[in-house]
Amino acid sequence: MMDETTPLCEECGYDLTGLVPEGACPECGRPVARSLPDSRPGSPWQFSPGSVSWLRTNLAVLRAPAELFASVRIDPRGGASLLVLNVLLAALLLAAPWTGTLIGDPIRGGRGGGPMRELLTFGWVFPAQVLGIAAFLVLLTMIEFAGIRFIAARRKWRLTRAGAWQVCCHASVGWIILGVAPLAGLALVYTLGVLLRVPLGRTFTIPATPGWRTSLGTVMGISLPIAGLVIGLLVYELLVHIGVRKCRYAATLRVATKG
Ligand SMILES: [Zn+2]
Repeated sequence: MMDETTPLCEECGYDLTGLVPEGACPECGRPVARSLPDSRPGSPWQFSPGSVSWLRTNLAVLRAPAELFASVRIDPRGGASLLVLNVLLAALLLAAPWTGTLIGDPIRGGRGGGPMRELLTFGWVFPAQVLGIAAFLVLLTMIEFAGIRFIAARRKWRLTRAGAWQVCCHASVGWIILGVAPLAGLALVYTLGVLLRVPLGRTFTIPATPGWRTSLGTVMGISLPIAGLVIGLLVYELLVHIGVRKCRYAATLRVATKG
């Protein structure tokens, strides 16, 4: 197993140990300096975490993912805070339109019990729903982390633990897209049906299912949010894919140990 801090050419994976920074990779000609950890200044979030750098980092990942992933510091520390923020926002967006509408939801069951009881029920159920969805997205992220480590090992890439982790955390803006896309689908149904008065509510029978009537509005109300979820998942996967290609040989930053 190769040391995760050994400098490799970020283009071809050639071992650069002993070469001067002014030199070039003997294998592909890429300047050695461009493969050293110093060539990665870090994302705005890694530079200084805050609301502005959070927004700038997420926008940069979406707008120019290859550039952003080429500049991410392969730091064994940090990254979790960005993941948690993005996942919580995504969960909020995912939970908001559905809470209280699904059968079996305690908020729906608590209706009619007076405003105080409804508020109390909402006060614990909604945060619980958001946390549950957020935990599920973190689980998906961990599965992705294990998956890219597995694939990288099979392709003989030296994707370090820290590299895979930073890719997964920085790609997590994809989970926000996953949260927004179903809302966009619902907004489309609302625009057509309510604002443009397209008769979406007219019912019809589904062929080959006698007696099962539905309406275009219902079909769109279910299929568009699902399509949105699929699109969001694809966006996340695409971002991770680009991130892995940009970090597959990057060395993990040597962290000074206390002493
Ligand atoms: Zn090279």
